[in-house]
Amino acid sequence: MTGVSVLSTLATIAVCVTLLALLMVFLLAAYRFNLKRHPYTDCRRCKGTGARRSRLFAHSFGYCPDCNGRGLKLRAGVRLLNIR
Ligand SMILES: [Zn+2]
Repeated sequence: MTGVSVLSTLATIAVCVTLLALLMVFLLAAYRFNLKRHPYTDCRRCKGTGARRSRLFAHSFGYCPDCNGRGLKLRAGVRLLNIR
């Protein structure tokens, strides 16, 4: 009796692990596809404007050094997984 129970428990665990692995692969593929479609995000430092104002001189204007005035930055996943 206990032998069958242990086998069925192992089978259940194997099925769960396989399903979890398949789910992870699917989610990773979906994330990669999404990164390929939308590789850029708003620059955090200038909030996507590309401009930077001085705190001291209110009318001074400069381009954001982080994004070079584009207002866009590559997403972390693009840099991490090297997707272009
Ligand atoms: Zn910026």
